[in-house]
Amino acid sequence: MKCSFCNIEIEKGTGKMYIKNDAKVLYFCSKRCEKNLMKLKRDPARVKWIVKKK
Ligand SMILES: [Zn+2]
Repeated sequence: MKCSFCNIEIEKGTGKMYIKNDAKVLYFCSKRCEKNLMKLKRDPARVKWIVKKK
């Protein structure tokens, strides 16, 4: 699975899963990603520390 925010591949057993009220499932590789998406509602495309992997 991939982090819903930074799109990094998350290893099994790590990261965090979050189920929203609308039943969408989000995965986070770190607290930082969780905080950015949930609290700050940042757009990943605008966050500089994210390195997109293809
Ligand atoms: Zn992440």
